[in-house]
Amino acid sequence: MKDIICLTDRDSDLEKAASLLKSGKVVALPTETVYGLAADATNCEAVASVFAAKGRPADNPLIIHVTSLSMMEKYTEDIPRAAYRLAEAFWPGPLTMILPKKNNVPEIVTGGLDTVAVRMPSHPVMRKIIDLVGKPLAAPSANLSGSPSPTTLAHVRKDMNGRIEAVVDGGECTVGVESTVICFDGYDSIRILRPGFITAEDLRKYVDEVIIDENILSDVVPEVKEVRSPGMKYKHYSPAARVVLVCGDLDHFIKYAATRKDEGMCCLIYDQDAEGFPFKYMTYGSDSEEQAKQIFSKLREADEKGVKNLYVRAPQKDGVGLAVYNRLIRAAGYEVVET
Ligand code: AMP
Ligand code: MG
Repeated sequence: MKDIICLTDRDSDLEKAASLLKSGKVVALPTETVYGLAADATNCEAVASVFAAKGRPADNPLIIHVTSLSMMEKYTEDIPRAAYRLAEAFWPGPLTMILPKKNNVPEIVTGGLDTVAVRMPSHPVMRKIIDLVGKPLAAPSANLSGSPSPTTLAHVRKDMNGRIEAVVDGGECTVGVESTVICFDGYDSIRILRPGFITAEDLRKYVDEVIIDENILSDVVPEVKEVRSPGMKYKHYSPAARVVLVCGDLDHFIKYAATRKDEGMCCLIYDQDAEGFPFKYMTYGSDSEEQAKQIFSKLREADEKGVKNLYVRAPQKDGVGLAVYNRLIRAAGYEVVET
């Protein structure tokens, strides 16, 4: 395929992107979480091209992106009342709800499941394009399967050049990690399948019960376990560098790193750890929200710098930090060290 076309966020370019999507092409689009690889969710061949471009396993279902509740209702049924409360509170925004699907959602989108994941994004470019297409857009993250998710146009171009038609520039993603994915265990009981920017504490204000699925924090390789969110079972988000996630305070982190000094070593630490830090390092922000925004670009930067072994000081395991921790366990291929 030819070189990827880079479009701006000007109206004429958004119309070009929409007409490519209407003709069944795949276009990468900015969202507030990460860049997505979008296709018309009702067009099986277009959706098949998304899986092909990413090299994504067919059993890992896609999220469909909508701009209205009526668009959601057209493709889902038996919607619990709590889903409307959550939509009112968090949409448009980084929350994805798993709902029973109608027959008009192709099986290829849902990996054969009888549910579909739905989200209403807030990024103005994504919203404008969904409205121009007039259909929900199925969109996983716009990286090669297994790589860190893309949060800038440059990341998308690196992974997708020659594999898809076009990418629209919407600047750097503000959230930086993928949406919080929830399913309904009961009418007023939800389960977090993938942590994101919207936290368990945020959700608890609107439903009776919020369960955090055990796989989120587990560092047990999940091939051996049952996983309710298919995407969470793969090694994922990984740069070429080996990543080791190191839990514990700064002193313990430094002692651990001291025993592993070698040429290709680099540490990824908090901003406030940097003063006097004795080894080669990069920083990824000073709190969980900044870490969420930066984590994927830092993993990519490690590869650009030729890092062989990246020792990451683990983030907090609560609030938004839980999302960062969850991505890092997988980036590390479950190599997690307690110091
Ligand atoms: P991504 O497209 O990379 O943002 O990943 C979407 C996530 O949502 C993956 O972890 C999927 O496994 C999960 N997901 C999508 N649809 C469903 C569904 N119907 N049931 C459970 N998990 C889903
Ligand atoms: Mg992804």
